[in-house]
Amino acid sequence: MARLNVEDLVVSYGAVVAVSDISFSVEDGEFVSLLGPSGCGKTTTLRCIAGLESSSGGTIRLGDTMMASDGSDIPPDKRGINMVFQSYAVWPHMSVFENVAYGLRTRREPVADIKRKVGEALKLVGLDGFAQRYGTELSGGQQQRVALARAVVTSPKLLLFDEPLSNLDAGLRDRMRFELVDLQRRLGQTSLYVTHDQSEAMLMSDRIILMKDGRIVQSGTPRDLYERPASRFAAEFIGNANIVDATVIRSVPDRSALVALAGGITVEGHFSRESDIRASGQVIACIRAESITRASESADGVNVFDATVETVGFLGPLITCTLRVGDVRLRAELPARRPPLVGESIKVRIEPDDVIIIAEQ
Ligand code: ADP
Ligand code: MG
Repeated sequence: MARLNVEDLVVSYGAVVAVSDISFSVEDGEFVSLLGPSGCGKTTTLRCIAGLESSSGGTIRLGDTMMASDGSDIPPDKRGINMVFQSYAVWPHMSVFENVAYGLRTRREPVADIKRKVGEALKLVGLDGFAQRYGTELSGGQQQRVALARAVVTSPKLLLFDEPLSNLDAGLRDRMRFELVDLQRRLGQTSLYVTHDQSEAMLMSDRIILMKDGRIVQSGTPRDLYERPASRFAAEFIGNANIVDATVIRSVPDRSALVALAGGITVEGHFSRESDIRASGQVIACIRAESITRASESADGVNVFDATVETVGFLGPLITCTLRVGDVRLRAELPARRPPLVGESIKVRIEPDDVIIIAEQ
C-alpha cells in the first residue's frame, strides 16, 4: 500500500490540453473519486498514473517511488498499479481462473500460490464456483467481478477504476457500488475512482476531486462539496439545486447575509466560503430542492414565504414540485404524504444555513 502524489500534471495532445496543471494526493488506504463531466480529463489523468499515457509535465509519485517525471516513465507493469475499465476487458477465450491468474503467472509465482490467491480473490468478489466458466458464459455483472478479482489478486499498491459500473443496469449498479466500497474497505487498498455520476461519487468516496476543463475546481469530503460548493459549477453539478442570481443587501455576523433574489424576495443565507464574507453586490444563491420545507399557515419569521404551487410530480416517497415565490421559481422536494395541489397557496420555510451564498458567478 502507498500514498499517491500527483504534482503539476500536464497532458497535451497537440494543441489540446487535456489535463492542465493538476495536483492532488490520495492517502494510504483512502478511496478518492475524480468527478466531472465527460471530457474534463479524468481518464487521461488515470491513464498517466497507470503509465498507459505519457505526461507532458509534472510528477507522479507512489510511496517513495517516482513513477513519472520529465518524460522518464516507469513502465506500467513495473508500477504495482492495477486498473479496472468500464469495458471489463475480460478475455473471452480464457476461463475465469485463467483471467484472474494472469498477473500472477507473468510473475512466475508458484502454482500452489496461484491456486490459493485466485481462490481467495474469487471468493472475495462472490464468484466461488465460477473458476472454470469462460468469459463468454458470464453476465455483465459477473464479468465486472472477474475484472475486480483480477485487479486485486496481485495485491497492487494502488487500484484505479475508470467508470467501472457504467455499463451495468441500474439495479446491479446500485448493489455493486456498495459491494465495491465494502471490498475496498476490507482490503484497505488505496483507490482512485473515476466517474461522471455525482451520486456514485458521493456514495462511495472518502474524498471527491471535482474537475472541469482539465482543472481541479474543488475537493473535499462528499459533505463538504454538498454543503459548501465554492462555485456555480460545483453547486449545479452536485445535488439538485436552484441557482438564483442575487444581490447582497447586508452582511450579518457569523458568515450570514441578507440577499435580494432576482425576482423580488429577500432571503437570509450563509456564505459558502470564509473568503466571500466581505462580498458585496452580485452573488448567487444556491437553494437545494430538499431544503425547502412546508410551514404551517400561521408560520412567521426568517425565510418563511408564501408560495403558489405550479407543478407537482410524484416520485414515490417524495413529490417534486415547482413553487412560485414572488417572481422566483423554485423546485422543491416535499414529502408525498398530503401533497399540495397544483394552484394551491402554501407557506414554505428555508433554513438560513441552507441558502448557500457564493460570490463567484
Ligand atoms: P473524461 O475521461 O473526463 O471524459 P478524457 O480524459 O477522456 O476525459 O479527455 C479529456 C480531453 O482530452 C478531451 O477533450 C478529449 O477529447 C481529449 N483527448 C483524450 N484522449 C485524446 C487523444 N488520444 N488525442 C487527442 N485528444 C484526446
Ligand atoms: Mg473517461
